[in-house]
Amino acid sequence: MSDPLRDPERRLGLAAAGLAVLALVAHPARAAEKKKGKASKDDFYFQEEPGEKGKRCETCVNYEPYAAGDKGSCSLVEGEVCRNCYCQGWTDKKSGKKAGG
Ligand code: SF4
Repeated sequence: MSDPLRDPERRLGLAAAGLAVLALVAHPARAAEKKKGKASKDDFYFQEEPGEKGKRCETCVNYEPYAAGDKGSCSLVEGEVCRNCYCQGWTDKKSGKKAGG
């Protein structure tokens, strides 16, 4: 029987799995958000300024402002967002349709 670690494809797979585990351990908050099924900011072309026609987090149904300040969280993308930020997941608050809900 051959040693599985001598198989280059298997070694590559194990290395990739190890890196994924390291990434989750190194960023527990991010791991928690991944569990919630949130997307990365890059996936939705997140930017820290309003989009066209003044679209911004503050007017998006997915925005959940913190109790104080101009930052908050988003039910769609991971991490902290700001009320004047924007991404392609923007959905008019008036539509009442929240991502995943
Ligand atoms: S979906 Fe995009 S625009 Fe809407 S709150 Fe989240 S980050 Fe902001």
